[in-house]
Amino acid sequence: MNPASAQFKIGSHISSSGGFLAMAKTAESIGANVFQFFTRNPRGGAAKAWLPADIEAYIAFAAERGIGTPLGHAPYTLNPAAEKENVREFARETLRDDLLRLEQIPGAMYNLHPGSHVGQGVDRGIELIAECLNFAVEPKGTVPVLLETMAGKGSEIGGRFEELRRIIDSADAGERLGVCFDTCHVYDAGYDIARDLDGVLSEFDRVVGLARLRAVHLNDSKYPFASHHDRHEKLAEGTLGIDVIAAVINHPALRELPFYLETPNELPGYAREIELLRSRRQ
Ligand code: FE
Ligand code: FE
Ligand code: ZN
Repeated sequence: MNPASAQFKIGSHISSSGGFLAMAKTAESIGANVFQFFTRNPRGGAAKAWLPADIEAYIAFAAERGIGTPLGHAPYTLNPAAEKENVREFARETLRDDLLRLEQIPGAMYNLHPGSHVGQGVDRGIELIAECLNFAVEPKGTVPVLLETMAGKGSEIGGRFEELRRIIDSADAGERLGVCFDTCHVYDAGYDIARDLDGVLSEFDRVVGLARLRAVHLNDSKYPFASHHDRHEKLAEGTLGIDVIAAVINHPALRELPFYLETPNELPGYAREIELLRSRRQ
């Protein structure tokens, strides 16, 4: 038993269609104490209203049952680095609106894919992402904004730790920016967490700083190392394997962070994976 052993914060992505109280109840039903959800339709734009009564009921339930750290995931269509102005405008407005709404949810964080430069080049992409963050991430806000480590598929920015560092350095509200470490994505991007997790985390610390790391997406990978495909696999069924995942949840630099499963599962599958992870937690 690790003496500094904090609570194991483990959960999965769950559907937000029933509102916040329903999400917390679902989380509890699968043995989770944290959860991730889409802030709105992942492929569309319009956000459903968040009902004050639901939020109030959620807050009471979550406090009573020890459920916390809800991680709002931005829609996939949000691309701050897009070439088209209307796409960038959607990104700015969505980001700002999501962050304002999340201020109502205690302990909430926000996760976004930094963006794809769609042929404009990494430098221009990073400039556009910083512009968007400067518009939407107000220094007086409190919700942490996490840039997700990406697989480096297509023109995705964020497949290299250096790119995340440059985004953080270019944004005014840099103090609110953190990073979400996706195990499938980093491996797929060419960071070998299977053979050298310590080395990858030292590299992350050198380039970005471990203090920026606020959450982990726990996924196995369908494809081999450095293939840039971004296809998640169920735990123990992919190219990482369960021992690597177990090393991640127990690593001293990571173990106190919240872990969110995004494996291709329905709720019973998530429940089984959470149970498996609890059995491997040291
Ligand atoms: Fe993601
Ligand atoms: Fe992810
Ligand atoms: Zn992914």
